[in-house]
Amino acid sequence: MLISTYTTELVRLSCGSQSDSKDLVIYLERDISEVIPYLNTVFEGFQYTKEPRSVSFRLNGKLVVVHPRKICVSAPGDRVDAQNISEWLREKINDIWERKDQIQPRFENPSSPKVLEILRFLPKTNCGLCGEKTCTVFAAKVSKGDRGPRDCTPLTAEQREKLVKYLGRFNFG
Ligand code: SF4
Repeated sequence: MLISTYTTELVRLSCGSQSDSKDLVIYLERDISEVIPYLNTVFEGFQYTKEPRSVSFRLNGKLVVVHPRKICVSAPGDRVDAQNISEWLREKINDIWERKDQIQPRFENPSSPKVLEILRFLPKTNCGLCGEKTCTVFAAKVSKGDRGPRDCTPLTAEQREKLVKYLGRFNFG
């Protein structure tokens, strides 16, 4: 088992979040550097650092940053929530470590959102309400971070949620 015991602490702004709420820091009893590239694959990390190794990803709207000896989670809620998140992460990371032979580790950052992927979430009516001539032009601007999901008003709530989630993999949106 990679992670068996750990300790936790709720501290203010240790994970770089912008809110006033406290962040959760999980201190690990041993170095888990080797599993980090596998977490980058499974959790679709948007920021991977080679040295010192770390990965950042979003989990149910929370920012999670995994370092070799600690894990930071932004705004986890109260102590009970923090404990539940800690335990869930422990089990999930142990499971990923057990299954690492079936997972392709990723040692780099994702490039950037793909225009065709963004287009999949758009209405594709070329209505022009966003000020662009076509949805493809709009998607190309979104892929560069120049436009965002809110700029396409005909998007349904479901489409917008999916697009935000996709862009979140790249820390866009
Ligand atoms: S507002 Fe949305 S649907 Fe209309 S052209 Fe722009 S991207 Fe396409």
